[in-house]
Amino acid sequence: MTVTAEAYVLEAAKAPLVRRSLQIQDPGPKEAIVEVIACGLCHTDLGYADGSVPTKKGIPIVLGHEAVGRVIQAGKDFESLVGSNVLVPAVLPCGECPFCLAGRGNACPNQKMPGNDIDGGFSTHFLVPARPLIKIGSDSSKVAALSVVADAVSTAYQAILRANLVEGDIAIVVGSGGVGSFVVQIAKALGARVVACDIIAERLNLIADYGAEQTINLANLDPKELRKQVRAFAKGAPTFKYKIFECSGSAPGQVTAYGLLERGATMLQVGYTPSKIDVRLSNLMAFDATLHGTWGCPPEVYPGVLNLIEQGKVRLDPFIAYGPMSKVNDYLADMAAHKLERRMVMDPRK
Ligand SMILES: [Zn+2]
Ligand SMILES: [Zn+2]
Repeated sequence: MTVTAEAYVLEAAKAPLVRRSLQIQDPGPKEAIVEVIACGLCHTDLGYADGSVPTKKGIPIVLGHEAVGRVIQAGKDFESLVGSNVLVPAVLPCGECPFCLAGRGNACPNQKMPGNDIDGGFSTHFLVPARPLIKIGSDSSKVAALSVVADAVSTAYQAILRANLVEGDIAIVVGSGGVGSFVVQIAKALGARVVACDIIAERLNLIADYGAEQTINLANLDPKELRKQVRAFAKGAPTFKYKIFECSGSAPGQVTAYGLLERGATMLQVGYTPSKIDVRLSNLMAFDATLHGTWGCPPEVYPGVLNLIEQGKVRLDPFIAYGPMSKVNDYLADMAAHKLERRMVMDPRK
């Protein structure tokens, strides 16, 4: 049966998303149609909507890459998914190429990202590759919150795995809102001592209640003074235990994070900015330090982070606000004006 979706479509950059009825194509053998229960609003969506970042599909496109929903139709290889609630990862690897087979699916060259490569979750329904879908429970009171796991939380988790973070490490998180707030919580859950840095006092106050043992306000702070405070926090721990997470996605944040690299330390570039910075790369050589990029999260490691949420070690609700998808243009405007402190989780039926 053909499915008709009510979707919010980006038809022109800098213009509001437009509500349209769209016919969803029947699923191919490896595809599924997901009836969306909730979809998160990410800062990247704002970049697409205001034209600063082009989508790979081009326009028109339905945005949204943080969706949870129920599978209502699936191709013949994945019929067992029909009726299940699923989380749709923001990065959907092919599952078959050398990258995927080596456990590097998040770098898969054939990957599809909803709301970028293909139509996304700002819609009542959308068509996705079925293989990467992750089954989640049916408790409807908890399902909507899990939408933010598709990008914000899983990206944080993968960054932590990439850093080989272990108990007793010193996690230094630069930019403690959004993805950074989940890096803080996950690092703490895995036994690291966490210091959170930001320029916004309210964010630091919130994260102090959810895993940050110390917070540092970077506004007007001299880099030498910051380094001194971090060393004091580490209480003499060897600097190879420093795991620095750049989550601000800003040039000043990148300069700050890079400036914290010391002997044997590791830095993860988690945030995105199109800006460039000027650094001495040879510091990596001199310090025998490591700098990793990290993108998305391969589907096979999602159970690890879902477990931490189930156990209450990572909290979602303090960082989320719920609203109807019919207000998506208002939320985008609020985000552009830096007035959204929580991640919006939107209901496409409202
Ligand atoms: Zn995102
Ligand atoms: Zn692949």
